[in-house]
Amino acid sequence: AKLQGKNNYQFFKIEMNEAAVKRLVFENQLRKVLEREELCLYYQPQIELISKRVAGLEALLRWENTTLGGMISPDRFIPIAEEMGLIVPIGEWVLQTACKQGKEWLEQGLPPVRIAVNISSRQFQQPGLLAKIKEILEYTRFPAELLEVEVTESLFIGDDSVRNCYKMLKELQEMGVKIAIDDFGTGYSALNYLKRFPVNTLKIDRSFIKDICVDKDDAAITTAIIAMAHSLNLSIIAEGVEEVEQLAFLHFHKCEMAQGYLFSPPVPAKQIEKILTGGSIF
Ligand code: C2E
Ligand code: CA
Ligand code: CA
Ligand code: CA
Repeated sequence: AKLQGKNNYQFFKIEMNEAAVKRLVFENQLRKVLEREELCLYYQPQIELISKRVAGLEALLRWENTTLGGMISPDRFIPIAEEMGLIVPIGEWVLQTACKQGKEWLEQGLPPVRIAVNISSRQFQQPGLLAKIKEILEYTRFPAELLEVEVTESLFIGDDSVRNCYKMLKELQEMGVKIAIDDFGTGYSALNYLKRFPVNTLKIDRSFIKDICVDKDDAAITTAIIAMAHSLNLSIIAEGVEEVEQLAFLHFHKCEMAQGYLFSPPVPAKQIEKILTGGSIF
């Protein structure tokens, strides 16, 4: 009976560890992602509604790994990369790759478009971030005016971090880099940071856009955000636009830009070249 008890105990332990082992394998694969060159960037067009032109491109990370069975969504690996501190080198790779790509497109004679790069709040805790961005802009010779950083409202919560971020964002803006607030409206943060912080663009979160044509509350929130952006002299982008009805609503309420599957999903760089040479993608 004693022996069986022991076996049961071991069996139980193995079961319990399965999740931990999976996590360990995942972390080990993630740690090697840069040396194995498994990352790539896709780009999603941001359309200016009046001119119907591509005004910007959002760079979005893709990770292909055979051990883990193919493509892993950034929603799955970025939070873990943040916990592990890996988001810092990964984020640098993203900035460098996007700026290099942008410069290449300019040299090919394609029309200049802004490139938006997601920067995790964790990266802003790193005092070297600003120097790194400067270094990358100098090295790649990509114009600072064409770079936009997308940050989330979580950046503006907490006293100390807020003070440091203010200086970094201010300096970025003085260099000509644009600052966008991603997933706008989903954070807990009060709106007063919009008055105090250097911000150029608000990105209305997809969760508000989804039902704008059927849900009065979502419609009201969206039109209020657009009106606020106008009066604060901020650019405005609606995220996750999938239907023509949503586009019509946004156009009617004078939303400046939109991004979503209706125009294009995120695509590899090669496909962007076709889109940019073709001009409009309507
Ligand atoms: P996000 O920054 O809010 O990016 C927008 C996400 O919405 C992307 O998912 C995009 O593919 C998706 N999307 C675009 N249009 C539509 C649409 O019409 N309908 C729907 N349902 N979805 C749409 P993705 O590429 O899977 O990225 C997920 C998140 O991962 C991003 O959300 C961002 O938070 C994070 N992420 C991606 N790349 C990076 C990166 O380089 N650095 C950091 N720190 N985070 C990144
Ligand atoms: Ca984003
Ligand atoms: Ca977003
Ligand atoms: Ca509602």
